[in-house]
Amino acid sequence: MGHPVAHSRSPMIHNYWLKQLGIAGVYELKDLQPDEFVPFIKNLSDNGYVGGNVTLPHKEAAFRNVAARDAASEAVGAVNTLWLENGKLLGGNSDTHGFIANLDERAPGWDVKGCRALILGAGGAARAAVYMLRQRGVEVDLVNRTLPRAQELATRFGAHAHGWDALPRLLPRSDVVINCTPLGMAGKEPLQIDLTPLKRSAVVYDVIYVPLETGLLAQAKKRGHRTVDGLGMLLQQAGFGFRKWFGGNPQLTAELRAMLEADIVAKTPK
Ligand code: NAP
Repeated sequence: MGHPVAHSRSPMIHNYWLKQLGIAGVYELKDLQPDEFVPFIKNLSDNGYVGGNVTLPHKEAAFRNVAARDAASEAVGAVNTLWLENGKLLGGNSDTHGFIANLDERAPGWDVKGCRALILGAGGAARAAVYMLRQRGVEVDLVNRTLPRAQELATRFGAHAHGWDALPRLLPRSDVVINCTPLGMAGKEPLQIDLTPLKRSAVVYDVIYVPLETGLLAQAKKRGHRTVDGLGMLLQQAGFGFRKWFGGNPQLTAELRAMLEADIVAKTPK
């Protein structure tokens, strides 16, 4: 459920698992205007659904309209997964799990002693990232164009807020750098950053997955850093909802990742 929603790759993931596990179900897209969203989720079951994912611009409306929420969605203030339990509509946030599980899988050992992370951005993705990193005891520096937004997150989660001009000072002390802005995404402005001050052992993570290799990741790879892309985050967060709606044990296979990569490459303008 979103507006717009046609670009979503989630049906490819869930319908792959439904087929793999032999479950008679379907995951489909619903483009809903803001005034259609709340009536739709209030009648999910009558509409024939056991639950669903929520994307922009409905995550806050979902947060406000569920009977109960999990700890992660409570902490980040956004619900992106809905499911029914004993007739009640419940809400959770899977971006938090997706963010950290992807980092653990793709860059094992990233969380060195005294680890410091640098997050670019202070929107929804940054909230999920800072929450999970703080849960793991990591010191977090947040850099954002609108400083008060970063300050609000910093106060809430016990992190440190800065403007973009602080980057040359912050990069040398960072063990993980994470882009949580849309800069570098296909069709958006590039992310202007010089990774020269970054130590070679630092991990560079971009939550963007279109393109698969952003300018940030290309620069980091060239300098010999370990890199983590955003497709793994999308894949890692999906199992949370699937288990709530359909049960079973969905697996992140190489075949599934290859299917998504091929689709992204085919549809991303050069
Ligand atoms: P959001 O809530 O709109 O936040 C966007 C952030 O980027 C804000 O901090 C904003 O700064 C900053 N920003 C935007 N344009 C900028 C510019 N021109 N210059 C400097 N800063 C700029 O967005 P979001 O939901 O966090 O999403 C961010 C990115 O993460 C998107 O590309 C999205 O696709 C991706 N994402 C990926 C996954 C995944 O599963 N891989 C999950 C969630 C999101 P201000 O505060 O100054 O406006």
